Amino acid sequence: MDKNKIHINQENCIGCGSCSAIALGCFSLNDDFKAEVLENGSCDEESVQMAKDSCPTEAITIS
Ligand code: SF4
Repeated sequence: MDKNKIHINQENCIGCGSCSAIALGCFSLNDDFKAEVLENGSCDEESVQMAKDSCPTEAITIS
């Protein structure tokens, strides 16, 4: 899917790592323990949706 459609609210992210565990290769935690979409990542819609649903703070949105 288009990675530009995935948005992560950095203020809400608590760095739990759930999204990066579910959508490995799409999300990763940066040095500040905030999730980000990998620049060269591969993001399929189903796993991104699952990652979004798993986020405890609803920091991930898909436009
Ligand atoms: S699941 Fe949500 S809170 Fe956890 S690392 Fe990902 S964006 Fe942050």
